[in-house]
Amino acid sequence: MDSTLVLYNSLNGKKETFKSILPNHVGMYVCGPTVYSNVHLGNCRTFISFDLIFRYLQHLGYKVRYVRNITDAGHLENDADEGEDRIAKKARLESIEPMEVVQRYTVDFRDTMAQFNALVPSIEPTATGHIVEQIELIKEIIEQGYAYEVNGSVYFDVIKFNKDIPYGKLSGRNIEDLIHNTRTLDGQSDKKNPQDFALWKKAEPVHIMRWPSPWSEGFPGWHLECTAMSTKYLGSQFDIHGGGMDLKFPHHECEIAQAESIHKKSPVNYWLHANMLTLNGKKMAKSTGNNILPGEMFSGENSIFKKAFSPMTVRFFILQAHYRSIVDLSESALEASEKGFQRLIDGISKLERLPIGDKTSDFDLVKWKNKCYAAMNDDFNSPLLIAHLFDAVKYINAVDNGLQQINKDDLKDLSKLINDFFFDVLGLLNEDDNNKENGGVQLDGALNLILELRNKARASKDFETSDLIRDSLSELNIQINDTSEGTTFKIN
Ligand SMILES: [Zn+2]
Repeated sequence: MDSTLVLYNSLNGKKETFKSILPNHVGMYVCGPTVYSNVHLGNCRTFISFDLIFRYLQHLGYKVRYVRNITDAGHLENDADEGEDRIAKKARLESIEPMEVVQRYTVDFRDTMAQFNALVPSIEPTATGHIVEQIELIKEIIEQGYAYEVNGSVYFDVIKFNKDIPYGKLSGRNIEDLIHNTRTLDGQSDKKNPQDFALWKKAEPVHIMRWPSPWSEGFPGWHLECTAMSTKYLGSQFDIHGGGMDLKFPHHECEIAQAESIHKKSPVNYWLHANMLTLNGKKMAKSTGNNILPGEMFSGENSIFKKAFSPMTVRFFILQAHYRSIVDLSESALEASEKGFQRLIDGISKLERLPIGDKTSDFDLVKWKNKCYAAMNDDFNSPLLIAHLFDAVKYINAVDNGLQQINKDDLKDLSKLINDFFFDVLGLLNEDDNNKENGGVQLDGALNLILELRNKARASKDFETSDLIRDSLSELNIQINDTSEGTTFKIN
């Protein structure tokens, strides 16, 4: 590696040179989804951002252990330890087992991430698979004197912890503000102070997701699972912890307190947070209807956009913004990304058949390569890398049109670099190739036959049949275009 990677550490708000704890190895933990509903597009943005980071670290030669959990218990409706367990609630509403809910939405999550061409993490541990580790962790925190039991539930004592180790480092909230701003719980809670958070909750008789523990039959607090699983698989101190911006407080702050109460040292060297995704300028929320699921975008079956957008268009659109900036989904922005993406794909596919010149190339490849690395080394600046890829495609088109030259060695290097950056690092795919792999040749043949029959119908003025064919194909998201050179089709 000839250049250094710099990343923005949310812990101190500064860009820092990345140095891994072990040479050439990186331990990275990212908070995964709570699997009680279809994965939210905003969450996909977070996971696509960390997929980019995972890919780039591997590209730089690091051996990365990437742990992303599945929350399948313990996440209550309200982040302040109140309400029903999200998964148990869904199970009750649908009269199915909680584990059926978990299975259904874990499969949905994995399918969606695969459509986005996100790599599978090294380990995907579940909260219910680590109850024993969580109970052990609570015992250790009690032993250190930072947790107390009341009526079968165990709470983390934030006030006592803060006297020894400052609380609020990540979110920049100090304890006085928290005391001032946390609402009192009207005597409904067993907590000593409203800032305290649950490590273990005694289950009410109706609560079905329950496990035995030294304190009661119950379930772990939401923040605990990430400390248990990150420590188990990455150690008491690891390199990178990531998640969505909304998890900074209280979730990540509580993770830090739990780990520090036992190990007396910062558990994570670099905290990375991906920003929000908004829809037409507003926060996405089911309650307001300003909401769209990934599957609804891909199929076009939604009331927000007029047309369907493919997984690669959405991925490309997301990567055209820096992971720390807010991204706003809108029809016009997505259409622009779709065009841009196609322009890159078209340019890249010309590489194989570019005419080779014998003179010096009209492009400074070394300078371009350095610019690409400089972009990614500057806190994973994917929009800048994409801008450089557009420059390369402009050059490819100029060579293709005979306006500029490229020699044999440079063509080989440029092809390799584009392959590295476009496919490996950005994780983009040529969806046309994909369609061909999935029986696309037969599909093309069958579609051409249908178009031929439609043209025959039109020639004999049987417009009823020709319209039926067009409309039925359109319902399947296959668009047909009549041009002066014949009829073509496009699968959306
Ligand atoms: Zn977490």
